[in-house]
Amino acid sequence: SRPVDGSLPAAGPIIHHPDVKRMLMTMRAYTEGCRALASVAAAAYDAAHHHPDAETRKQNQTFYEFMVPLIKGYSTEMSLEVTSLGVQVHGGMGFIEETGCAQYYRDAKILTIYEGTTAIQANDLVGRKTSRDGGQTAKALAVQVQATEAALTATGTADAVAMAKRLAAARLAFVDVVDFVAGNTKAKPNDVFAGSVPYLMLSGNLMAGWQMARALLVAQEQVAKGVDVAFMQAKITTARFYADHILTKVPGLRDSIVDGAAAVTALPLDAF
Ligand SMILES: Cc1cc2nc3c(=O)[nH]c(=O)nc-3n(C[C@H](O)[C@H](O)[C@H](O)COP(=O)(O)OP(=O)(O)OC[C@H]3O[C@@H](n4cnc5c(N)ncnc54)[C@H](O)[C@@H]3O)c2cc1C
Repeated sequence: SRPVDGSLPAAGPIIHHPDVKRMLMTMRAYTEGCRALASVAAAAYDAAHHHPDAETRKQNQTFYEFMVPLIKGYSTEMSLEVTSLGVQVHGGMGFIEETGCAQYYRDAKILTIYEGTTAIQANDLVGRKTSRDGGQTAKALAVQVQATEAALTATGTADAVAMAKRLAAARLAFVDVVDFVAGNTKAKPNDVFAGSVPYLMLSGNLMAGWQMARALLVAQEQVAKGVDVAFMQAKITTARFYADHILTKVPGLRDSIVDGAAAVTALPLDAF
């Protein structure tokens, strides 16, 4: 069909439709965010084992351990989102077998099940990575995110300022949830574990978004130096997309976790 803005005289390729671009940008943003999170954690793992300074090794180990359930749990859940959109972009051709997209979607499903299901990763995040130290590690990460927000705001560009705003809202939601989890895991375990996977999704979303924000800062510097401008501009645009379309989910997840436990557990077992 013809593009909605009349930019082609007749029917053209589907990439002219804004919603097709939205799907492709979503796939791109999740992929880049999750990949960046895994790379940063891998670097921390190396530093945790090989850095000459013992305190730096310890800090990197703590950082790495917090990230592990996020990388396994969040990235694999998002691989389902990405591969599902891959099918959707192709329409009926995606659902039947010619394109190979449906095979990627089916293959991605096992990633959320083996090597510890998503819920088991979430149990790790709640228990060992958050409650055990009263939320200290999580809150220290929030302080690092806040420093990135300040760096973004200082550059003053529209993309960086917009990213800083979304990151701040997501960080504040994260801190609320960390307080809820750390404060209630012992007293009201069912309330906390009713929101354990949403907490994992919230944290993964924020931490991957934080890496997108850091990438945005580097890309802006490279654009200013004239280095690989088209690639860097695409990084900035993808980070901006992540901010406006993916980080924006975080405050809603906060509400589900902090306010929504009762509806998860209210129905009696014989209602299922
Ligand atoms: C293709 C494939 C390859 C595999 N390869 C290997 C392998 O090489 N080595 C190996 O050891 N295993 C392997 N597995 C097994 C895999 O690790 C398990 O299937 C996985 O750990 C889930 O366990 P389960 O199937 O018993 O499901 P269950 O543990 O019964 O889980 C069912 C559901 O209940 C939820 N659930 C269970 N317990 C909890 C809890 N405490 N809190 C919250 N939710 C919970 C789960 O999240 C899940 O949604 C493989 C499985 C498949 C399908």
